[in-house]
Amino acid sequence: MALLDLHTGDLVPGTGDDDALLEPTADAAALAAAAATGGPIAIRFPTFGDGRGHSLAVLLRERHGFKGEIRAVGYLIPDLAPFLLRSGFDTAEITDANDVETWKGALTRIRHLYQHGFRNPQPLRRDASKREAEELNARLAKIESLSERIAELRRSVEGRIVFSTSLGLDDQAILNAVAESGADVDIFTLDTGRLFPEVLETVELSEIRYGLRIRLVTPEASEVEALVARDGVFGFRQSVDNRKACCEVRKVRPLNRELKGAQGWITGIRREHSEERADVALAAWDEERGLMKVNPIADWSTQELTAYIAENNVPVNPLHARGFISIGCQPCTRAVQPGEHPRAGRWWWEHEEKKECGLHMNPRREGKAA
Ligand code: SF4
Repeated sequence: MALLDLHTGDLVPGTGDDDALLEPTADAAALAAAAATGGPIAIRFPTFGDGRGHSLAVLLRERHGFKGEIRAVGYLIPDLAPFLLRSGFDTAEITDANDVETWKGALTRIRHLYQHGFRNPQPLRRDASKREAEELNARLAKIESLSERIAELRRSVEGRIVFSTSLGLDDQAILNAVAESGADVDIFTLDTGRLFPEVLETVELSEIRYGLRIRLVTPEASEVEALVARDGVFGFRQSVDNRKACCEVRKVRPLNRELKGAQGWITGIRREHSEERADVALAAWDEERGLMKVNPIADWSTQELTAYIAENNVPVNPLHARGFISIGCQPCTRAVQPGEHPRAGRWWWEHEEKKECGLHMNPRREGKAA
């Protein structure tokens, strides 16, 4: 027998010999008595399919506020590891110390959990996700072709990958590459209700050109009504707080709803966009949203972008020809004069450092460039 630390996946010294032992049939009095010992408490599993041990651990943690060590003993298999950890167990008695790598692997394998658990998220899974993101970032940095980068992303991330497009130049280049790669990607744009008509025309043009659908994701009508009732139709011009509230309702919340359950998120962020984005990675683990955030043209210069658009005859928003570079909602975007910063036309009445809408907050925190 060997004792496995479920938090680290490593073997630790000790046996369950002196623990208070709870059988799966333990009643409330037995639980209270075991909790009063201060631990460690061992809970026995007569078969690996018997879930009563998990319930006892959750009761010890949640009802009795037990803070000491809880050990799983008995008939255990490696697949149980993440569920034991979530139920509140700290250690598990394993029959063969040579199985430790199998147990460790099980602790990193499950990515998405639906039921309530005493602990969530899983620290080892988080470490593995960060490592996978760093590895993907390194692989993408070695690939020149944009469509190959998208294909590599598709090979690397299981499950739903979403691409949130603003139909701007950066995103149109990515759209071209997604279509070229044939990768299965869920494409949508945030229809805030304040978009330029030219943006919607670009949606249609792109759908015809590439033979795909770009979903329009709208905000909750009741939230928009409440916002406008409080701040007025153009309330976002009155203060940074009002503007952020408007972006929150019309962009951030709809985006978050769409990102729920996604495993990958493609964006058109480039390092040249702003000081805030200067060291953004090609791929980074988004801790808050629990997914792989991929910025496949993060390392492109504006010259590379415009050359790609021209070479591939990518459909573009006609507003670009009229001096609009970064295009958001109609009332919050103006054309940029020669020599001005590309994002100078967004919320031009605000100070530079406040000019993020919340979709890509703290890009520095999401991972540095390779
Ligand atoms: S860009 Fe302007 S109109 Fe659009 S959501 Fe933000 S504040 Fe509201």
